[in-house]
Amino acid sequence: MYQLLDGKALSKTIKEEIAREVSAITAEGGRPPHLAAVLIGEDPASQAYVRSKVRSCEQVGFQSSLIRRPADISQEELMQIVRELNENPDIDGFIVQLPLPAHLDEDEVLLAIAPEKDVDGFHPMNVGLMALGMPRYLPATPYGILQMLERYEIPTEGKDCLIIGRSNIVGTPLSLLLSRKGYPGNCTVTLAHSRTQNLPELARRADILVAAIGRPHMITADMVKEGAVVIDVGINRVEDPTAKRGYRLVGDVDFEAVAPKCSYITPVPGGVGLMTVVSLLLNTLKAFKLRCQPEMQA
Ligand code: NAD
Repeated sequence: MYQLLDGKALSKTIKEEIAREVSAITAEGGRPPHLAAVLIGEDPASQAYVRSKVRSCEQVGFQSSLIRRPADISQEELMQIVRELNENPDIDGFIVQLPLPAHLDEDEVLLAIAPEKDVDGFHPMNVGLMALGMPRYLPATPYGILQMLERYEIPTEGKDCLIIGRSNIVGTPLSLLLSRKGYPGNCTVTLAHSRTQNLPELARRADILVAAIGRPHMITADMVKEGAVVIDVGINRVEDPTAKRGYRLVGDVDFEAVAPKCSYITPVPGGVGLMTVVSLLLNTLKAFKLRCQPEMQA
């Protein structure tokens, strides 16, 4: 029988831990940590993600600010917003929700974010610190996956780990983190992508299989080893006329067929997505401590 890696329950527990810390800070007369989010345009998925981030801030007692601008904003206007957030002493960390509309230069924006406020962990400085084993802000989704492995006490040392998908926000950083010395880590990592050959064969060898592809139900039961740990990062909208919104969310893993073969598996929704938001909160708390309580560095 498989065990569910329950992102809903775990994120609730961690949020309660954060809320207790925030209460202690404010009880001593301090201000709460403050996260700002920049949302450009009307992309429905981005709007939903940002809403959930703002709601989560409220749940733990953080202050949050949402800066919304239309999709036709100029690069210079967006850069000005980033500069103001960098300089605003009341804001501990901020994110610019991606993807940005096509006319905007994402790289220029990410490079302009002050590394100490980059709670998404996407700035090259933070990526470099992570790669060298001196982590400051880990990117939220890999960080959320590490916490799941850790809190469920899943052994990782010496395990064969296949990560499918090499994005800068999920697959590539996770491959670094799971191969590093320490726990969770010490895995033998293979990073697969769209040009990989013999994917089913590689997948069947994996003790830990992470799917971060963006293709509904691509991972089928015949690709999974008996007893594997399966982490499904994919969030895909599939049409469903019976659903209130006309669609439902599914992962990259065919959960119904794969779960019976697993020792542990994440559901979608209710898995990695919720852990991602919690990780953003943890990074913001860390940013707050680095700014306001440097002697108590997390
Ligand atoms: P991406 O969309 O930037 O890239 C997809 C990756 O999948 C690429 O590296 C590509 O090489 C690989 N790929 C595509 N087709 C493949 C194939 N047939 N075989 C093997 N590899 C293939 O990646 P992303 O931004 O990491 O997003 C991946 C999925 O994860 C999406 O569904 C996204 O919505 C989801 N996501 C979820 C969270 C979360 O919090 N749960 C966070 C980020 C992304």
